[in-house]
Amino acid sequence: MAKQVAKQGKLRIIPLGGLGEVGKNMTAYEFNHKIIIVDTGIMFPENDMLGIDYIIPDFAYVRERAEQVVGIIITHGHEDHIGAIPHVVRAIQAPVYATPLTRGLIEVKLARAGGVERAQLNTVQAGQTLELGPFKIEFFHLSHSIPDAVGLGITTPAGLVVHTSDFKFDLSPVDGWPADYAKLAEFSKRGVDLLLSDSTNAERPGWTPSEMVIGPAFDRVLSESKGRVIIATFASLISRIQQVADAATRHGRKMALAGPSMVDNVKIARKLGYLNIADELLVPIDQALNMQDHKVVLMCTGSQGEPASIVGRLSTGTNRQFDLKPGDTVVLSSHPIPGNEETVSKTINRLLRRGAHVIYDGVLPVHVSGHASQEEQKLMLNLVKPKHFLPIHGELRQLTRHAALAEEVGIRKEDIFVVENGQIVELSGGNVRLGERIPGEYIFVDGESIGDIDDGVMREREMLARNGILLIDISLDKMTGRLLHEPEIVTRGFVSPQDAETLVPEVRRRVMEMVNGGGLENQKDIVGAVKSYLHEAVKRRPMVFVTLSKA
Ligand SMILES: [Zn+2]
Ligand SMILES: [Zn+2]
Repeated sequence: MAKQVAKQGKLRIIPLGGLGEVGKNMTAYEFNHKIIIVDTGIMFPENDMLGIDYIIPDFAYVRERAEQVVGIIITHGHEDHIGAIPHVVRAIQAPVYATPLTRGLIEVKLARAGGVERAQLNTVQAGQTLELGPFKIEFFHLSHSIPDAVGLGITTPAGLVVHTSDFKFDLSPVDGWPADYAKLAEFSKRGVDLLLSDSTNAERPGWTPSEMVIGPAFDRVLSESKGRVIIATFASLISRIQQVADAATRHGRKMALAGPSMVDNVKIARKLGYLNIADELLVPIDQALNMQDHKVVLMCTGSQGEPASIVGRLSTGTNRQFDLKPGDTVVLSSHPIPGNEETVSKTINRLLRRGAHVIYDGVLPVHVSGHASQEEQKLMLNLVKPKHFLPIHGELRQLTRHAALAEEVGIRKEDIFVVENGQIVELSGGNVRLGERIPGEYIFVDGESIGDIDDGVMREREMLARNGILLIDISLDKMTGRLLHEPEIVTRGFVSPQDAETLVPEVRRRVMEMVNGGGLENQKDIVGAVKSYLHEAVKRRPMVFVTLSKA
């Protein structure tokens, strides 16, 4: 029996991201006007979010209470947990706590973001306990697809909460460091009031295979490929990079890293001892490009088919440093993030069309998930034996499935809370209830501008993509005011070349008529006339721009 301790006060759990979606994980814990933040992730945009680089959580709730924040705790170095850290530490001057590798990856990220010299970074180790205001935080090791991942035991006078963050129960992890089962059992002995656990794979029965299964698949690719092998994964999937290095060594190939994030992350992970790569294995990319094809493995980003990534550019023939050549094998060593399936599929098709041999999950097991499947989720619930359960990290369907699993292992339905971002959950007097709702929206980040891309801009981009664009360039003689030459017309993305052959001359004729008739006084009129003509002729409403120069 757990010892009964009087519970005092109210702990408020504020899900800012990762509940009801995959990505941008961020949770705030608030007790007596003191706040800790757990994780500050980003989410990758979906197909229909055009031109958006990434999305960060709406963290207005904690930004407005910045002086109450006593610490920012990061569980591991994946983008969906650290990606938004530059934005958060610019707004909130609180100390950041992370394990050594996670801290190293945060440093790389902050250095590249620039302008955040003030960040107060602190190193913690799995097994350590940290006191921050009313919070006692116990860090415990969990296996995942990156070394040095931790879960948290968070004790306040209101009780004990266990926050797993991402995990899988990998019994033969690449870094040889399994989960801290003893700590989980110890928590349960103390009595866990609430468990927050990773729901990503709640729809997958069984166990997630160990990261080890990838080794033989890589062996096969490296031994059977006669040419270069290009392996794409996330720059933060440190365990995978280790496996590629090990396979390259076994097959007498040198390894080169393409892309700054890959280069920087490998550098810091090697320096801190989390990547074991011999100096002689690594060669600079320009050297690798001049070596015999069957002697090299190139590692790069772009496993999600991101257009700006190296694999994205290779698929469209627009990579500057090197291009695909006959005999190349491209390995996509990751699984499409929900919403990215279509982009990944198109990228695979484009790579194939350009003559590459393409290997992806489904052809060979070149990827395993880093997240617990159903049996492991049940094991977590059984080990921790929480009184209440709050599934995190997943879309509503995964959260709901995880809730059903919790019921299967004996947690009462009324003690399980399926909520999405912005729904505050409160723990007090040993009971959990729902609090108020706060906004839990998307903040779009597009290059330099943050958050000022509203729905209007998104709609405009959508229209551009759907309806295309027509540019009319008019040059006038500045002495006579007459056309120097016929208007130049460029169309993009709204009519077939055949249709353009008849449409463009007609548009040109109408524009010339208007200009010669003095209609240039109002460029808007020209735009309007062209638009209504196009709508009438081809039922499309592209965006129409008129540029005017005088020479
Ligand atoms: Zn992760
Ligand atoms: Zn994650």
